[in-house]
Amino acid sequence: MIDLKSKTALITGSGRGIGKEIARKLAQAGADVAISDIDLETAKATASELASEFGHKAIAVAADVSKAADVKKMFEEALGAFSKIDILVNNAGITRDGLLMRMKEEDWDLVLNINLKSAFLCCREAVRPMMSARSGKIINIASVVGLMGNAGQANYSASKAGMIGLTKTLAREFASRSINVNAIAPGFIRTAMTDKLTDAEKEKLSSQIPMAKLGDPLDVANAALFLGSGLSDYITGQVITVDGGLVM
Ligand code: NAP
Repeated sequence: MIDLKSKTALITGSGRGIGKEIARKLAQAGADVAISDIDLETAKATASELASEFGHKAIAVAADVSKAADVKKMFEEALGAFSKIDILVNNAGITRDGLLMRMKEEDWDLVLNINLKSAFLCCREAVRPMMSARSGKIINIASVVGLMGNAGQANYSASKAGMIGLTKTLAREFASRSINVNAIAPGFIRTAMTDKLTDAEKEKLSSQIPMAKLGDPLDVANAALFLGSGLSDYITGQVITVDGGLVM
């Protein structure tokens, strides 16, 4: 059994969806968790749910993670509460889909800022305390479309491919300090993000997945639990796909 007692984790965009499930898994394993979300009320609701479910510390922090000032404040609050961050999960992400010829510049910028710049900003804050501790786990939530592309998602797939490049680069920069940096590339997972798809679209997608079904947030959370634990100590710079065999 994975034991994260006395560990602390900060998960961005964890008010709901995959981020919330990751926070739940880490809290279940014993970690104190900082629930960060752009919406404070959602973050508070998730934090109090997890605190009462598992009895560990769970704090809520509001931050738009695409903004450097918010990210700085978020780390000040989390470090103030926990005095260290052992695990950082860069999960916050959005879609603004459209074919390239019709894609608006603001939709490109928004997606790149929230999905990719946010990870740069959070990693930059996290590595200082992790370097002092000479240990840390950074988990970046990418996507299979960052590996294979997807028509209608130029902004989103570029942001997720960027996340993979960032992961490998930081893995090289911080390996000697015992900071592991890995990415998870989920396939199609049942959340608000994929609820936008029609049943016909979901069926078409499922037919392309060897396991013939969409995944659950728990499938991604299980991979995050492994990467956040000591079981992954000799693994860095890797991308774990959680996709029912879609990319292989
Ligand atoms: P989701 O249900 O839409 O949840 C995203 C979370 O991020 C929400 O809590 C949202 O807050 C928060 N958020 C949005 N913008 C933010 C910002 N600027 N600052 C801080 N938080 C922000 O999405 P999900 O499906 O769980 O996706 C989580 C991650 O997995 C994303 O990075 C996504 O790209 C990735 N992913 C998902 C799938 C999938 O099939 N679902 C597949 C591959 C990768 P509000 O709700 O308050 O806006």
